[in-house]
Amino acid sequence: MSDSERTPLPLVFDEPRGRKKPPRHLADLAPDERTAYAKELGLPGFRAKQLATHYFARLVDDPAEMTDLPAGQREDLVAGLLPTLMTPLRTMEADRGTTRKTLWRLFDGALVESVLMRYPDRATMCVSSQAGCGMACPFCATGQGGLQRNMSTAEIVEQVVAGARALARDEVPGGPGRVSNVVFMGMGEPLANYKAVIGAVRRLTEPTPDGLGMSARGVTVSTVGLVPRMLQLAEEGIPVTLALSLHAPDDELRNELVPINTRYSVAETVDAAWNYARTTKRRVSIEYAMMRGINDQAWRADLLGDVLQERGDWGWVHVNLIPLNPTPGSKWTASDPADEREFVRRLEAKGIPTTVRDTRGREIDGACGQLAATEA
Ligand code: SF4
Repeated sequence: MSDSERTPLPLVFDEPRGRKKPPRHLADLAPDERTAYAKELGLPGFRAKQLATHYFARLVDDPAEMTDLPAGQREDLVAGLLPTLMTPLRTMEADRGTTRKTLWRLFDGALVESVLMRYPDRATMCVSSQAGCGMACPFCATGQGGLQRNMSTAEIVEQVVAGARALARDEVPGGPGRVSNVVFMGMGEPLANYKAVIGAVRRLTEPTPDGLGMSARGVTVSTVGLVPRMLQLAEEGIPVTLALSLHAPDDELRNELVPINTRYSVAETVDAAWNYARTTKRRVSIEYAMMRGINDQAWRADLLGDVLQERGDWGWVHVNLIPLNPTPGSKWTASDPADEREFVRRLEAKGIPTTVRDTRGREIDGACGQLAATEA
């Protein structure tokens, strides 16, 4: 199908024009651009490296602790290269403090959220990549509000740095720790903000002190299926995990649940996921939110198994079922546990490894975007 034949959509890919950009921050820039930027601000170029060390390696945010910088210049250096990007409005805790969800206000008043989830063997930050979302999935609270704007690379990185600080400072039960995993599963469609998201992935994975020094294998980028961007991501040479939110194995239902499907069909989308696995040798995760009476029928489990299996049985894919966390007043509700078990059984019978996502944060409005929606 050519682009001109595709159905026009009420989807929003571009943020409104004329918006003021977030303050420029050291984390927006690649290491080799930082010295020049410091000079542009009238600051000594070599100070950029010192500030990067404070930000990425030492996780310092108080200028008073940056004692290797001349006291008289500290304020200017920090204001120029590490400007305040976001302020926490509210933090909610669950799971005895090991799940912490933070609602942030950005410089222009936009609200986003991030969640830190600590497990015995790892700590995962779930971050937002856009304020709002233009993908219009009808079961999602964020999707109902539309897109406000794309977040900058530094605004995305700052969410991870905030979690890293909380862990390093022993503010989360379990002793001092570090962020081992980042998942782009907060507000927004990450691949609709491609450039900033790739920049953030690079900052997360660049060795310290240029970046946070995380393994790319610990980073998961999710998408509802922006096929051209999925193909592009496969060529970036950064082996992140790709998570495709499929939610239905047939076009008829997926057109309704995930409106981007009217532009890129299930077949095209799953092909792009398969291509990602083939190119990067990274197993793709298929995310499937289980919705009672909507997409959780046994025959859809069989169809999903067939759709995935027919692209090869070399372990390129696994399915992650998500018990839906319904939003108040919504017709979308979680599947019956017996239907969920049968769904898993049928997928596994077709040789598809299947897991059910844990439901961390349920009691703190774990549904995507709900916290920000409530505050707004
Ligand atoms: S489910 Fe994800 S892609 Fe769909 S509207 Fe919500 S945030 Fe956007």
